[in-house]
Amino acid sequence: MVFLRKKKDNAFFRHGKHKKKEDKKHKKNRTISMALLTTALLVSAVLCFLVYQNLFKEKEKIQLTNTSIENKKQNSEESKQVAAVPHDIKEEAIIGASPDSRKKYGYDAKKVQQRLEDENFSPIDDKKVVFLTFDDGPSSYTDKVLSVLDEYDVKATFFVTGTNIENMPGRAKKIYEKGHALANHTYSHDYDKLYPYATLNLDNFVEELERTLDIIRKDLENNNFTTKVVRCPGGYMSWSGMEKLKHYAKEKEIALIDWNALNGDSEGRTKTQEQLLECMEESSENKDMIVFLMHDTKAKTVSSLHKIIEFFKNKSYSFRILI
Ligand SMILES: [Zn+2]
Repeated sequence: MVFLRKKKDNAFFRHGKHKKKEDKKHKKNRTISMALLTTALLVSAVLCFLVYQNLFKEKEKIQLTNTSIENKKQNSEESKQVAAVPHDIKEEAIIGASPDSRKKYGYDAKKVQQRLEDENFSPIDDKKVVFLTFDDGPSSYTDKVLSVLDEYDVKATFFVTGTNIENMPGRAKKIYEKGHALANHTYSHDYDKLYPYATLNLDNFVEELERTLDIIRKDLENNNFTTKVVRCPGGYMSWSGMEKLKHYAKEKEIALIDWNALNGDSEGRTKTQEQLLECMEESSENKDMIVFLMHDTKAKTVSSLHKIIEFFKNKSYSFRILI
């Protein structure tokens, strides 16, 4: 009994032990299964997430590619438009004279300014050169001056004032169309305004240069025209405080041009034709580069212009324009 009991007990014990063991095993298995299931669920969730993310990225990529293609298309359309603008609308600037004349007769006025300052009147490119210049116009004499210049096929530089272009509409255009150079001689030519107490007023001077340029453009009906050549009324050397103008001119690449010979048509009392020619001969002596001052507002200059041109032609000067 004891034995049995023992046996029973043992069996029971054994059975209990076995059951416990089995329970433990089941529990373990359940835990493993649960863990596996959880892992599987987690893995599939991660996989789903990754697949979704990938798909989203792909979609985004496609969208980006489409946008970039679209942008590229737009940019090329735009660049086509930008390239088309200057060709269709904006023309090249016209500086000083018509492009043909500039090419054929033009000479850099800044170099001439330097030569005048250095008193270097030696030949230009081994040639004697004269720059005929007419100041203060246009006037009622300008047409006659232009036809004499035409007769000799000679080109000149006209330092025009804004007021006189307004007084003689169409003359600046005629000067330009005949192949001469147009240069700036301020709007009013008024010494009291430009140089009060004989000293430069830069603001007034610059304002007059800009105003005159606008008036020239209007007369030419061409907003692309500009001139980089200026002659100060009364001459650069006659006034105080001119360093400021020189600085301004350098910044704007403008040449300030005086002269080294003249016929004296506005000096002192009115001269006879002979006196004008005498003045020309004396002041031009021994100079192979001449900037010759005259005024297309003086009757005597117009009537002696044939002789003036012939004088320089006979001495083998070539006629150039300041640009
Ligand atoms: Zn003048």
